[in-house]
Amino acid sequence: MEEDDAQKSIRGACLCGAVVFECVGAPVHFNLCHCTMCQKFHGAMLGPYVWFKAAQVTMVQGHDYESIYDSSQWASRSFCRRCGSSLRYIYHKEPDMRFMAAGIFEGDIGLKPVRHIFVKDKCAWFEIEDGLPQVAAWVQSDLPEAIANTPTEDS
Ligand SMILES: [Zn+2]
Ligand SMILES: [Zn+2]
Repeated sequence: MEEDDAQKSIRGACLCGAVVFECVGAPVHFNLCHCTMCQKFHGAMLGPYVWFKAAQVTMVQGHDYESIYDSSQWASRSFCRRCGSSLRYIYHKEPDMRFMAAGIFEGDIGLKPVRHIFVKDKCAWFEIEDGLPQVAAWVQSDLPEAIANTPTEDS
């Protein structure tokens, strides 16, 4: 009994539970970003992001708790202002894409990352041993058409 991918939904919430997202259908992409801004923002060795089209993502609750920080000229990042959880990456050149911090999703979401990006900035104490493709910064060659306009700057 397989559930149709198009109907499958996954739920994401911050640590305190104030902000809740629901994402419906198969994601566009899932990457692991090693840029220094992701390291800082997540307080971790990398930033894991699951990409969805805007229409696939609903904020179920917590609009008043999502704070947005402009981390560069081309992107912003959001977090829960009550518990500090990382929530989303907002890329201004792709306003129809939602880059969701993978750690907010609950349980086994049935998704695996596709590749590592910005490996040139990887932190020294972490080794990549999962065999996934790695790119120094960012390349668009193997990405879907919907996200063909991609950043060349550090994310
Ligand atoms: Zn919270
Ligand atoms: Zn990054």
